[in-house]
Amino acid sequence: MLIVHKYGGTSVGSLERIESVASRVAKAKKEGNDLVVVVSAMSGETNKLIGFAEHFSDSPAKREMDMLLSSGERVTAALLSIALQGMGIDSIAMTGRQAGIKTDNAHTYARIDSINPEAMQSEIAQGKVVIVAGFQGINENGAVTTLGRGGSDLSAVAIAGALKADACEIYSDVDGIYTTDPRIEPKAKKMDFISYDEMLELASLGAKVLQNRSVELAKKLKVKMVAKSSFSDAEGTVIGEESKDMEAVLVSGIALDRNQARVTIREVADRPGIAAEIFTELAEEQINVDMIIQNASTDGTTNLGFTVPQNEINRAKAVIEAFDHDIGSMDFDDSVCKVSVVGVGMKSHSGVAATAFTALAKENINIEMISTSEIKVSMVVAEKYAELAVRTLHNIYELDA
Ligand code: ADP
Ligand code: ASP
Ligand code: MG
Repeated sequence: MLIVHKYGGTSVGSLERIESVASRVAKAKKEGNDLVVVVSAMSGETNKLIGFAEHFSDSPAKREMDMLLSSGERVTAALLSIALQGMGIDSIAMTGRQAGIKTDNAHTYARIDSINPEAMQSEIAQGKVVIVAGFQGINENGAVTTLGRGGSDLSAVAIAGALKADACEIYSDVDGIYTTDPRIEPKAKKMDFISYDEMLELASLGAKVLQNRSVELAKKLKVKMVAKSSFSDAEGTVIGEESKDMEAVLVSGIALDRNQARVTIREVADRPGIAAEIFTELAEEQINVDMIIQNASTDGTTNLGFTVPQNEINRAKAVIEAFDHDIGSMDFDDSVCKVSVVGVGMKSHSGVAATAFTALAKENINIEMISTSEIKVSMVVAEKYAELAVRTLHNIYELDA
């Protein structure tokens, strides 16, 4: 079997942890598998490097940021390879470029355009374990690019797809995908299986256990993902194609996204095209607008509310200030969060949203915004209610049963 392993920051967070990962990789190799191992930077390393850059500049050049941040993963790849060689396992560490990963030019959130797997294949054919620095590639100019936070998951899936690997195993500090973050709700249950679509929703809505783009790509390339723990030998959760009888499961999980801020613009001139202008400008600045609500117009103006990631709020402010002739006032609240209920069963059942609203109301949690899709209901509530809201929803849908 050809298997791709990916080890996240906590799994390689110290020299002892890297040694333990090396033992795990050595064992899988000795069992007769071909292996490519994708690694993240040691935990805290990427944030530390960002802090270094911010010491010199409020808005460091993105190209240089990629140069800086890609180094964290290279350190881990080289150390893991050295550790493996020390155990008598033949291995080679590669950067994203050496592994053949080409991306577009969008520094700090690049997309993978193609992977030429020949270099990796030739090392595998020589019996080596290939260790690849995750989270990075190169663009057409030969400059290093990075794939967005949590991007090593994406590297792993893309490599698994390019090599037609039998599985892509993502190792972290949890032994699978739970009905909600087990750090928030200890009663959360581990799932044996979850569909790509549900996992994609959970990941996009804040469950950072897998990066959402990696799940999207796994679905597209039909890569079998398995979420496992690097701290235990527990079975893990398979992420794959939904089967026919799965619609019986009404709600499969609850996600929490703390990285949300609410923007309210008051007395917006109520004329055709104004929303288009504001949201086009925000999109051009690459600001990720999520939920949007607009009130019915009274006396020729309306109120417009939407959410953006917290770290994009200053840029959003700058965009909206340019519309000062068309708006009354604006305010920002970054003490909000988004809780979401996800389940493919919602497609064929009604009442899921009403149940959620009722449960939160009983706890006196005010819902500030709502958005729904076929398989999810999301609600913005005050940040102070984050844990209570997650546990209340987890309980009302009996996810601990
Ligand atoms: P890594 O650093 O290895 O990439 P992450 O920290 O990104 O790992 O992801 C693992 C974390 O995801 C867990 O520690 C857990 O707190 C969190 N998490 C959030 N939602 C879930 C969920 N539904 N199931 C399992 N873990 C979850
Ligand atoms: N080191 C990068 C990050 O912290 C990528 C990753 O860990 O997947 O976002
Ligand atoms: Mg991660």
